[in-house]
Amino acid sequence: MAHLIDGKALSAQIREEVKQAVTQRTSEGHRAPYLAVVLVGEDPASASYVRGKAKASAEVGIGSDTMTYPDDIGENELLDIVKGLNEDPEVDGILVQLPLPKHIDDRKVINAIDPKKDVDCFHPESVGNLVIGLDGFQPATPAGIVEMLRRSNIETSGKHCVIIGRSNIVGKPLANLMLKKGMDSTVTVCHSRTKDLPSIARQADILVAAIGWANFVTADMVKPGAVVIDVGINRVDDETRERGYRLVGDVDFEAVEPIASHITPVPGGVGPMTIAVLLQNTLKAAVDHSA
Ligand code: NDP
Repeated sequence: MAHLIDGKALSAQIREEVKQAVTQRTSEGHRAPYLAVVLVGEDPASASYVRGKAKASAEVGIGSDTMTYPDDIGENELLDIVKGLNEDPEVDGILVQLPLPKHIDDRKVINAIDPKKDVDCFHPESVGNLVIGLDGFQPATPAGIVEMLRRSNIETSGKHCVIIGRSNIVGKPLANLMLKKGMDSTVTVCHSRTKDLPSIARQADILVAAIGWANFVTADMVKPGAVVIDVGINRVDDETRERGYRLVGDVDFEAVEPIASHITPVPGGVGPMTIAVLLQNTLKAAVDHSA
């Protein structure tokens, strides 16, 4: 039976650390860190993520406001809003909830954020710093995974880490973090054009699934004793639930759990870690601004 990596408990640890650091700063006369969240439109999933971020911020003493705009806001108007937040000395971190409506170019908006306030670590300057191993903001989901491995005392040096998925928010930045000196994994990134993916996955000491496909990783894709990290969040119909669905990951948990040495559940695994890293980044932004 695999050891279950409890993302809720680990993220609670990190949130407590951030809370203590915020309390320490305010007791030294600094104002509380402040996160500005921009939400465009009424997508229920985005609204729910944003509510979660605001609640988590409040719990650790980080100030935050959600600025909500209608779906038909113009691109230039949104760029002006970001510019205003860049120039506002009371704002430490800026988060624009993605995806944006189709008529707005996500990339233009991300590129407009001051890299010093880029707590999502999506700006090209932040990504560049990550790739060359400079100090900077951490990409929330990948850094949350690294924290999970570190706090679970999982050896990464010299290990083969296979990541399934090459998105800009998970697969690619995680590959860079696992390659970094100090992590020292040998990294393979798989995607939809990868040939014979199961045989590559079976070579993994650490297997990360970030695909967005319910139960994609089956038992025959996992080496006995591997560490399995499930990033996926997928809805599957479930009439026994009041809301008519339940959330599952990209890993067939029931089948893989007996084989793996460690495994993350969904929900309660990687998800909570993502918000914890966002709080760490907002604290870092505030510390850097006041330095
Ligand atoms: P994307 O859709 O951006 O990327 C999915 C990746 O999976 C792509 O690189 C794609 O390959 C690859 N892929 C798709 N089908 C296959 C296949 N059959 N074989 C191999 N690779 C395949 O997704 P994200 O990275 O944004 O998210 C992935 C999952 O993680 C989603 O379920 C999402 O909800 C979840 N997620 C969870 C977070 C958390 O906090 N827990 C945070 C972010 C995401 P290609 O590039 O070739 O198309």
